[in-house]
Amino acid sequence: MSGPGSPPSVVSRRQLKRAVRSRLLPWFAKHRRDLPWRRRRTPYRVWIAESMLVQTRVDQVIAYYRRFMKRLPSVRALADAPLDDVLKQWEGLGYYARARNLHKAARHIVTRYNGRFPRDYESIQALPGIGPYMAAAIASLAFNQDHAVLDGNVIRVLSRLTAYEGDTSKGTAKRELQTLAQDLLIEGEAGAYNEAMMELGALICTPRQPKCAVCPMQRVCAAYGKGEATLYPRPRPRRAVPHKEVGAAVVVNRKGQVLIAQRLDNAMLGGLWEFPGGTQEPDETMAECVARELKEELGITIEVGDRLMIVKHAYSHFTIALHVYMARIRKGRPRPIHCADYRWCNIEDLADFAFSRADLHVVERLRSISIKA
Ligand code: SF4
Repeated sequence: MSGPGSPPSVVSRRQLKRAVRSRLLPWFAKHRRDLPWRRRRTPYRVWIAESMLVQTRVDQVIAYYRRFMKRLPSVRALADAPLDDVLKQWEGLGYYARARNLHKAARHIVTRYNGRFPRDYESIQALPGIGPYMAAAIASLAFNQDHAVLDGNVIRVLSRLTAYEGDTSKGTAKRELQTLAQDLLIEGEAGAYNEAMMELGALICTPRQPKCAVCPMQRVCAAYGKGEATLYPRPRPRRAVPHKEVGAAVVVNRKGQVLIAQRLDNAMLGGLWEFPGGTQEPDETMAECVARELKEELGITIEVGDRLMIVKHAYSHFTIALHVYMARIRKGRPRPIHCADYRWCNIEDLADFAFSRADLHVVERLRSISIKA
């Protein structure tokens, strides 16, 4: 590794690797959390857990993981399940493309590998939705192959251990840190090594208040040596997050049922159900936006009533304010024009459908009020 993003030569890689073996691994053996996916390791269990853990906290994942495993305990069960069931298990976790890819990859494993998870890194990485991180996690944790993982926790730990100056959002930096992670890997103990690095980042070397006083790597840590632990990784330039104003309608029919629509497969949140609507255009009121969207999406003319609520929600790349209105049909019958499907649904049956987190707030509100037919 060389150039402006290189770690200083305060501590050599050999010293770091020695510390990984003599300090980090024993620390991990003693302090590792007892998590459900760490018991009875199989590639399937690693795959599901790691897919859920991307951008999501461990304490949130545990209940999802248990529920998913109970319902879909094997590759074959996942492959045989309708996509709607898989999305329902994933409901509220976000990043729904992961759930769709799990389903697709499970079907691929059944048809191509007769339901047995492939063992070699290249075949694992060739599965739909599996990138270098996931392939390394499965290869190392399930098959103990010598592949180092690089996730947010590991990037932070390595950046601090070496006082790494590069911009860790850039591909060059990620490649350099990946090489470093691989160099420090203890051969034959890849699973423990990867988990120890991630666990150190999750429990000790945390973003804002690292617990350097109890860190097993303190003696070899360059950032700690400089008294600058929290200054690494170097902050990246902040980009303004786009914001969208979005309108949606809860259309009620004479039976007191509400209209829900299923998003197109190739759209963001594809396959999920929602209260129909869309993004406000310039020069239109929110009520006009909702009426236009329902015409375009379902071919109906609606009368927009009172506003029910506003839901604020942050996705990974933008934020929304979802303005939800009560509405009735004035003309027409719903047809799935710009959506995959639609249903009239009793409030108590909404639980059978998978909604995004923003729409789940609407479902919750509807359960708490009485809807007049
Ligand atoms: S000494 Fe502090 S900064 Fe360095 S690895 Fe440990 S917790 Fe992180």
